[in-house]
Amino acid sequence: MHTNVWYVDENVDIEKYYPQIVEAAECLKRDEVVAFPTETVYGLGGNALSDRAVAKIFEAKGRPADNPLIVHVASRPHVEKLVTMIPKQADELMKAFWPGPLTIVLPGGQSVASNVTAGLETVAIRMPDHPVALALLKAANLPLAAPSANLSGKPSPTTAQHVIHDLSGRIAGVVDGGSTGVGLESTVVDCSGDVVTILRPGGVTKEQLEEVVGKVNIDPALSDDGHQPKSPGVKYKHYAPSAPVTLVDGSKPYLQSIVDKQREEGFKVGIIATEESKAFYHADLVIPCGTRNDLVSVANRLYDVLRKFDESDVDEIYSEVFTHEGVGAAVMNRLTKAASNRVIKE
Ligand code: AMP
Ligand code: MG
Repeated sequence: MHTNVWYVDENVDIEKYYPQIVEAAECLKRDEVVAFPTETVYGLGGNALSDRAVAKIFEAKGRPADNPLIVHVASRPHVEKLVTMIPKQADELMKAFWPGPLTIVLPGGQSVASNVTAGLETVAIRMPDHPVALALLKAANLPLAAPSANLSGKPSPTTAQHVIHDLSGRIAGVVDGGSTGVGLESTVVDCSGDVVTILRPGGVTKEQLEEVVGKVNIDPALSDDGHQPKSPGVKYKHYAPSAPVTLVDGSKPYLQSIVDKQREEGFKVGIIATEESKAFYHADLVIPCGTRNDLVSVANRLYDVLRKFDESDVDEIYSEVFTHEGVGAAVMNRLTKAASNRVIKE
């Protein structure tokens, strides 16, 4: 399959006509799948009302069928058509954070294709805060099921080049609107109970949610392997580069001592550092992942950094750790998965 690339300015005016976006929307209406930028990562979109289109998303990504998809919409009326009810807290969250990196799990979902929800009686919905995504949703006039536009298990794509690297020849096209903003996926929350529960940490923090709806819980499965997660995708190993990653919870000299030992044994070793610490380390490849005093910059760089190690020949990667506060919760969630839970404490 030939994969089209449509270049658009990341600052498109959604009231204007862009032939590239209309062409991409025509593909979506024909049940083809198309990747597009959002403010979190690139998504791989398909008509959420069509089993055929949704099946193509799973096939292109190699995604397990029991991992449901997030439905993207451009307006509130689209949401109302897809769910049986909107609980009060969900309504407050939509008003506060949409468009934005917050996915809300709502009751219903019988009107979307059955493979979108993987048989659950709920559907996950969000309104992305990116002019290109909104323009495409508007032009297609469809709800779009859109997981991250990477091969399953690989780091999520934050540029169109990452998408092309993983999916060229497997999808109808990609709308290239430059690099994405947040760089980590949306926060997923469940609003079906009395207390809003975070199923997956992301761009919107627990603290920000609590300012709007009061106390917020975290799905215990996120910190404890004994629990069955309510968000099926959370159980999969994700975001991993080919070389094994290990987190080092300790000082810089301690991390360096581990790296020295491995290099003496003949391994090529990479380090995930920060702008503040990169000059301290000696290794085969040291890549800074943002600045430690600005966790948003760490979130923003993480997937690109993980992918950069795939372009190198390192055998192992060691990473510094970050606080679990604020955006740090999402950063540490993704890093811990990239490391398959391997952590060395000093
Ligand atoms: P991705 O599309 O790769 O960003 O992953 C979507 C995430 O949303 C996965 O962790 C899914 O398990 C989760 N998700 C999607 N639909 C639901 C739902 N109805 N209930 C709970 N989690 C969901
Ligand atoms: Mg994903």
